[in-house]
Amino acid sequence: MSKVYLIGAGPGAADLLTVRAATILAAAAEVVLADDLVSDEVLARVRPDARILRVGKRGGRPSTPQSFICRVMVRFARQGKVVVRLKGGDPCVFGRGGEEVAALAAAGIDAEIVPGLTAGIAVAAAVGIPVTHREHCRGVTLVTGHGSDAGGEPDWAALARTGTTLVIYMGLARLLNIAARLIAAGMDPATPAAAIASGTTPAQRHVVARLAELPARVVACGLASPAIIVIGEVAGLARAEDLAGFAAQAQACAA
Ligand code: SAH
Repeated sequence: MSKVYLIGAGPGAADLLTVRAATILAAAAEVVLADDLVSDEVLARVRPDARILRVGKRGGRPSTPQSFICRVMVRFARQGKVVVRLKGGDPCVFGRGGEEVAALAAAGIDAEIVPGLTAGIAVAAAVGIPVTHREHCRGVTLVTGHGSDAGGEPDWAALARTGTTLVIYMGLARLLNIAARLIAAGMDPATPAAAIASGTTPAQRHVVARLAELPARVVACGLASPAIIVIGEVAGLARAEDLAGFAAQAQACAA
């Protein structure tokens, strides 16, 4: 039976790939359908004679329709090729992995999921945030900040009361609104919070602030997607901000 590998590429740094992912990419892959989030450093690990198709889905830009991606996977798999669907982070954390497994199954194709390090945990760790430090919280909630995903807007009022660290994916553009809703629902405006962009890549930057001030700080520093937002006491454990890159960028713009 044909098989497609759904592989998590991790947050960016190629040495954060799992050994299984790196082995399949380097030795077996013949056709690789890669998301925009997958770093060039990871793609450089793919077998040189493999065909790499970029099938981006980044918000705001034209994206490849999901149905087209599934059709391409099915076509190559039926030709007997070793097909890899390569996604940033973990394929099943805000990665539509479940939808693709179902579409492949409907076409009679088996899918093997190779998990990856999800940004919400790995990128937080990259700046020194332990998302479930037991002296600070009872757990962690991974949530999308994207208003139009299935299920609609997350219930921010309920999330404000969980006593867990909140890690928000795809939330940068709506941060002002999200912070306002959490505070309106009773979350302390002084709660530590952090935003981390392009985590584990050479472009990694982060800012740390009180929840009420984080949105303005993110704008002032020019932080851009992809970024995760961490809200909760553990965000206060983040390393000092590393904004050297912003300063250089600001100077370049002023010049
Ligand atoms: N499947 C991915 C998430 C895809 S949704 C995973 O498990 O990590 C896309 C969102 O992931 C981005 O908007 C951002 O919130 C987050 N993200 C992915 N890579 C990131 C990185 N290197 N640094 C910061 N955030 C990242």
